[in-house]
Amino acid sequence: MIAGIETGGTKVICAVADPRDPGTLVDRVRIDTTTPERTLGDIRNFLAPYAATGGFDAVGIASFGPVEVDSASPRYGWITSTPKPGWRNTDLVSGLGLAEGTPVRLVTDVTGAALGEHRFGAGRGVDDLAYVTVGTGIGAGIVVNGAPFTLRSHPELGHLVIRRHPDDSFAGVCPFHGDCLEGLASGPSVEARWGRPGTDLGPLRGGAVELSAYYIAQLLATVTYAAAPQRIVVGGGVLKTPGLLDAVRQQLALLVGGALAGHPLMDTGSGYVVRPELGDESGVRGALSLARDASPLGVVVATAG
Ligand code: ZN
Repeated sequence: MIAGIETGGTKVICAVADPRDPGTLVDRVRIDTTTPERTLGDIRNFLAPYAATGGFDAVGIASFGPVEVDSASPRYGWITSTPKPGWRNTDLVSGLGLAEGTPVRLVTDVTGAALGEHRFGAGRGVDDLAYVTVGTGIGAGIVVNGAPFTLRSHPELGHLVIRRHPDDSFAGVCPFHGDCLEGLASGPSVEARWGRPGTDLGPLRGGAVELSAYYIAQLLATVTYAAAPQRIVVGGGVLKTPGLLDAVRQQLALLVGGALAGHPLMDTGSGYVVRPELGDESGVRGALSLARDASPLGVVVATAG
C-alpha cells in the first residue's frame, strides 16, 4: 500500500492506494489543520490500520510551507519559518510515526498539485506542465518529463517583479515588496484594493478582472519564457472570478505577441491555459504519484506498463 498526504493551511487530505493502481483511492480522509499535535495525531490514526497490516511501500507528501524539501538537509521534512501559529519548526515526516525505512518523498503543495494534474488530471498527455495557483498566495509548480523541476527546492514566483498597470495606484500588500505580483494580484490584495472580497465584487468586478488579468498574464508569460511547458493549469480561488480566465488568456496573447509567433498561447481556444480537473484532490493525488514512484512495486509496474 502507498499513502499520499497533502497538508494545507486549513485542511489535510490523506489517501491510500495500491501502488499498481494509484489512481484509485482505497480510502481517503479530510482533516482540519489545527495544532501540529492534533493534526499529526489524526493523520497517524488514519494511517494506523494500513501501517499495521504490512506497512507502507512508500509515502508521498505535498505540504504547505516554507518546508525543507532537500533530502540531504538534516531538517528534511520540517515546516520551517511559517507564520502559521504553532507550526514553525514542525518535523512533519517524523510526526507521521512511519516504520523505519519507509521511503518518503516530499514536495511543496503546489508542486504536488502539478504532479497530480499531470498524471491524473488536466495535464494528462503532456510531458512538461506548469501548475499556477493564484489565491491567498501565488505560486507555480513545474513538471519536466513527468518529474518535479527540482527536488532540492521549488520555484518562488509569487514575488515576481511585474509591470504595473497604468491605471493602478494601489500600493500592494506584500510585506517585503509592496507591489510585487503577490502584492498586486493575490486574494488578499484584491480584497484590500477594492474593499470587498473577490467573491463579492459586484459592480467592481469588471475593473478587478482587468487588473487581475493584466498581472496574472505576466506570470504565465514568465513561466512560458522560462520553462516552456506544453500546458499551464491555473487554479486557486482568485481564478474562480467569473470572466477572469478568459481575460487572462487574451492578455497573455497580447503581452507575448510576436515574441512567440505560432505558440499555442496565441490562440486563446487552444487549451494551453486550462483549469484543474481534480478539484481539491490535485495535491493528494500528486503525493500518491510520488509515493508510487518511490515504491519498488510501483516502479516495476511503471516500467512494465
Ligand atoms: Zn513580494
